[in-house]
Amino acid sequence: MTINKDEEPQLTNEIVPLREGLFRETPQGAVLLGMRCRACGQVHFPSTGLCLNCLAEDVEECELSREGELFCETTVHMKTSHFNPPYRVGYVKLPEGLKIFAPLRAVEGKPFTVGMKMRVEVAPLWSEDGRDVTAYRFYPC
Ligand SMILES: [Zn+2]
Repeated sequence: MTINKDEEPQLTNEIVPLREGLFRETPQGAVLLGMRCRACGQVHFPSTGLCLNCLAEDVEECELSREGELFCETTVHMKTSHFNPPYRVGYVKLPEGLKIFAPLRAVEGKPFTVGMKMRVEVAPLWSEDGRDVTAYRFYPC
């Protein structure tokens, strides 16, 4: 399925998350669920249960900032199992200091520019085995 703004995926009714523990809906909108190391303070995404900075296992779940800055982006011209080309992907740098790689949703009148404000959203991005898979992506805000 494609994430082009002009060609939204054909969706079914049953919705499943890409993976449990990646994100949650809050009254303010969707948030990604990261992992904060209690030993060194570094924040990671997704959670692995082990700090990749200091190898401590004393970690806790944390909600990541909903907004960050576009670090870089590109257009992908190869088909994947989930997306038809062309589609956009990029890294968004969050205030916690980590960069999240994700699909990007274009917004009319807001061309992608390094440093622009981006917000996370959770949406059904493709269908698989008759179910709509929800995953995260970022869009200019
Ligand atoms: Zn650590």
